[in-house]
Amino acid sequence: MYNKIYKFPNGATIIYKKRKSNKATAINAGFYCGHQYANNGLPHFFEHMFFKGTTKRSMEQIIDDRSAITFLNAYTNNDLVCVTFYQSNKRLEQSFEFASDVLLNSTFDAEKLSNEVKVVQEEKIRYIDNSRKSHMVMHEMYIKKNFKSLETQADRIFGTDDFLNTITPKDLENYRDEHFVTDKFIISVTTNLSFSKIKKLVKKYFLNHIKTPETPSTILPVEVYEIDRESGVNLVQNNDKGYKAVITIKMDADGHNYRYDYNLDCLSDSLGDRKDLYHYEVRRQGLAYSCRTGVDYNNFKNTLWIGVDFTTSSIENISKILSVLGDSIQILKKDGLSQEDIDLFKENYIISRDTRRPSSHKDLVYDNLLKYLRYGEEKAKTAKQIEKFYDKITKESIMENITKCFNKDNDVHITIMGDFTNAQVKTIEEYKQLVFKN
Ligand SMILES: [Zn+2]
Repeated sequence: MYNKIYKFPNGATIIYKKRKSNKATAINAGFYCGHQYANNGLPHFFEHMFFKGTTKRSMEQIIDDRSAITFLNAYTNNDLVCVTFYQSNKRLEQSFEFASDVLLNSTFDAEKLSNEVKVVQEEKIRYIDNSRKSHMVMHEMYIKKNFKSLETQADRIFGTDDFLNTITPKDLENYRDEHFVTDKFIISVTTNLSFSKIKKLVKKYFLNHIKTPETPSTILPVEVYEIDRESGVNLVQNNDKGYKAVITIKMDADGHNYRYDYNLDCLSDSLGDRKDLYHYEVRRQGLAYSCRTGVDYNNFKNTLWIGVDFTTSSIENISKILSVLGDSIQILKKDGLSQEDIDLFKENYIISRDTRRPSSHKDLVYDNLLKYLRYGEEKAKTAKQIEKFYDKITKESIMENITKCFNKDNDVHITIMGDFTNAQVKTIEEYKQLVFKN
């Protein structure tokens, strides 16, 4: 994670990460004014206008400078609207100047604006289309009822056609006026340069050109959605051959922080690795080629899931696979895991959540920003600390989690994607019977 979080007296934040390798720097710089600050597509639209001209550069000049200076990019998420680049330090000053110009000085030409509406509409169609092809994305949306539908989500990110057609240059100016202030500014940097050098650049190219608000701004907390759907089967119709399915069991964490508790990871891995359990049995019976097990922590929320995900050729196989899962659960409930199973997990498991691993400047600078939004100034865990968390996995703790998770009173959510024209889909109660055998 980061080496340093620095807050200027005017409220602006630098997240700084030093990397020894490469004489290069990556930045993500922007403001707290993402989707959740407007909910109507305006933040994302604003981002599109970054590249349509500034007070210093024409649109053509921006295109030229994206190859001559640095390949500047931009993105909008729930929290932020950002520009980003990764560049050799030889061109760092120029890149900072270019990034700051694009972020801060957009001109909002009415004709370019109306052309861009069409581009955003195209992007929205592609977003819906891509999401619908992913059974994992569809499942995610399904289990979080408050997430509403894919279409609602798309309207929120990209805007409805009606809204897009009414955006005026004035709307964009007002938006910038409200949100582009020092205490909403945040920059994440990964570099081999010293912090003081970076701080100087941030001041010179960004902060000196951003106004301090008269009253402190409101920074909204990261939005998280509870898994709030009751048990059910979610069918996503398409014309593909075969069926993709994901089955998850919801569990209440009751305030327990599973982020640093690897019991469920150990259980999930054993379902995938042990020769008498789920994965190998599904393969042995020839029911599916790709089948995985997984756990999701749902960020800070009190709910999480453990589940399986597979692709298979027929709808009947889904029942057979769930029955294999049910058999595995029976075995686990009876015998738990052995000390050898647990030791093997500790040896092999690579914690992807918090440990340091080789990753590019580009990935790291973005990751650090997300982690900061989620976990604040919390420090990364050391290898020693992670080992201590491992030590907490025992045969007894595993048994407790088996009882808690594989409990027939827990909600079970199933998403199946495929062609249901002549398919016999079971009810959620029937599927649950297969998973939780009596
Ligand atoms: Zn876009």
